[in-house]
Amino acid sequence: MSAVPDRKSQPSRYDIAGLLADIDGVPVIAEAQVVRKRSRDFFWYSPILNKELADKSADILVSPRDEAEVVRVAAACARRRIPLTVRAGATGNYGQAVPLEGGVLLDITALSATEWQKPGAIRVGPGARMVDIDMAIRPSGYELRMHPSTKRTATIGGFVAGGSGGVGSVTYGGLREPGNILAARIVTVEEEPRILELRDDAAQKVNRAYGTTGIITALEMPLAPAWPWIDVIVAFDDYVDAFQAGYEVALADGIVKKLVTPVSAPITPYFGALKKHCPEGKSILICMIAEASLGPFKAIIGSRGTVTYEAPSEEGPGTVPLYEYTWNHTTLQWLKSDRSITYLQCLFPHDRLMASVKEMIARFPDEVLAHHEFIRFGGRVTASALPILRYTTPERLNELIAMHEEAGVMIANPHVVSLEGGSRHKRADADQLGFKHEVDPYGLLNPGKMASFVAKR
Ligand SMILES: Cc1cc2nc3c(=O)[nH]c(=O)nc-3n(C[C@H](O)[C@H](O)[C@H](O)COP(=O)(O)OP(=O)(O)OC[C@H]3O[C@@H](n4cnc5c(N)ncnc54)[C@H](O)[C@@H]3O)c2cc1C
Repeated sequence: MSAVPDRKSQPSRYDIAGLLADIDGVPVIAEAQVVRKRSRDFFWYSPILNKELADKSADILVSPRDEAEVVRVAAACARRRIPLTVRAGATGNYGQAVPLEGGVLLDITALSATEWQKPGAIRVGPGARMVDIDMAIRPSGYELRMHPSTKRTATIGGFVAGGSGGVGSVTYGGLREPGNILAARIVTVEEEPRILELRDDAAQKVNRAYGTTGIITALEMPLAPAWPWIDVIVAFDDYVDAFQAGYEVALADGIVKKLVTPVSAPITPYFGALKKHCPEGKSILICMIAEASLGPFKAIIGSRGTVTYEAPSEEGPGTVPLYEYTWNHTTLQWLKSDRSITYLQCLFPHDRLMASVKEMIARFPDEVLAHHEFIRFGGRVTASALPILRYTTPERLNELIAMHEEAGVMIANPHVVSLEGGSRHKRADADQLGFKHEVDPYGLLNPGKMASFVAKR
């Protein structure tokens, strides 16, 4: 299906008719309403981005069916200098898949086939949903090492290009840890696109680059043993006790775990179906523990907390997995009934973790509501956090970010669209910036997201 865009109010700046002729035969949608709807992700979590990105849209949506069609689209975009933004599950939080300068929105989800699987590794198309990958490989005794809490809708390519870590990171760390992405195959955006295989450390050039450093057409990912996981909720009188117990579980290398998430008492009333397992006024610890480790897990908890829920993990159709109350789903549970809040993304210092957590709770007791995620980071156990923030003004939000940073809590700001602004270090990764010159010389891939990149003229 091919069509000329019907964006009557805003004629395109680009030669879309020429592009359509170049990619004749590749599926295209041009209805402005549909394209606009697909040009959105979960940026509305941020009151700032919600205003900033409200009217952004691509000109057309193009859905290649294989890598050869991706190459044709990339070549046509390069020739005609038309921006190209890849869209997968569109569950990103910072407008990552929102085209700031119009052009082509490239729906990559049809590239979802598995090329091969062997013990401990899989090679798969970027458009495969992570839940589908795990369901397919579980009978072989393996699963993905980690996934975001959006596993049921998000793709493996979107996770590598836009995510950082999630369920499983308490054992394996984030995607940035060496070995957590084995290889990526990409298509460059040049008049004559090249296909590159990025292996080992080189694969990091596409990790969390928001699709600015190439179009991923295949990924090799490492796998983990698929344990029978048990979902557990433990209730505590005090948040610090829940955090301390979680910390001990995270540190216990003999306990096989996938998720260790303390959530403070004011948040759980927003937990819908899970509320009945969250006693009023209590903070909780949400965990996924291998069945064989349940005894030692409970021994660590001891009499400090009360187990209120214990059942085998489920994620099939018609069920809401427990992990959909953790990571950024914790925020979503609250947003379902109250849009006045927002959130932060923090990384706490591993060497004074407990002191730093206590300090932040004491400084902002009612304004920043505690929710942490235990992770491994550079070989050490620490906590990232996605606290709920009672939003007032952009100035106060920025003040809170500055106060966290001054106290040594690093912030990946989820209220900005650029990679630099959203990075804990406030700059683009040097390797990724250099690589972009090689693979996207005209700066057509998701323009505006790698703000420090200056395109060749
Ligand atoms: C409720 C909620 C919970 C979340 N929890 C987590 C979490 O636990 N951990 C986490 O890391 N993130 C989390 N996220 C963010 C997001 O869901 C994940 O990063 C997810 O993996 C993105 O996948 P996607 O398929 O939706 O990608 P999209 O949102 O479609 O894309 C993400 C980015 O990757 C680029 N991209 C996608 N595919 C390709 C490709 N083939 N080639 C090049 N670039 C590409 C896009 O252009 C975009 O910049 C959460 C978001 C929400 C709304």
